[in-house]
Amino acid sequence: MIDLIAGATNGSHVCNAWLVDGVLFDPSGDPWSRTPAFWRLYCREHDVRAIALTHWHADHATGVAALARELAVPLFAPPIKRERVFSYVTEGDRILERFQVLSTPGHDAEHVSFWDERERTLIAGDAFERSPGGHIDPLTIAKIEMLRPARMLPGHGLEKEL
Ligand SMILES: [Zn+2]
Ligand SMILES: [Zn+2]
Repeated sequence: MIDLIAGATNGSHVCNAWLVDGVLFDPSGDPWSRTPAFWRLYCREHDVRAIALTHWHADHATGVAALARELAVPLFAPPIKRERVFSYVTEGDRILERFQVLSTPGHDAEHVSFWDERERTLIAGDAFERSPGGHIDPLTIAKIEMLRPARMLPGHGLEKEL
């Protein structure tokens, strides 16, 4: 089951969260996404078993550590010092034995994406978005293309069928 929860509140910059079989990706509580109150309700109604982050930009990550603590579910995220997180992830780790962690730097140095091999689906985050410095890493793009994903779920915009 895949659910797109698009941000609804701040004009042109809209940020996506995705729920894929009980794992909620990038449920930010900032103005480009949804409110913390929305996420609390959503998680209780949808049996969210874990939260995962592609990177720590505010439009994806605001309030997620607090949300995970409150729901008592694990938070899987790339390392960052200023947040207390249950589980840091790196290349090759698996989330709930299902989603493989891919290091996909470029947009952000610590950026990761999540690969669901069974459905050939990539939770891409912002891997295809330029960095604040305008950078996209060609090695990251090549690495993703080699997987031959059937679909990609991006941090902004619509799902891409390939
Ligand atoms: Zn970003
Ligand atoms: Zn973003």
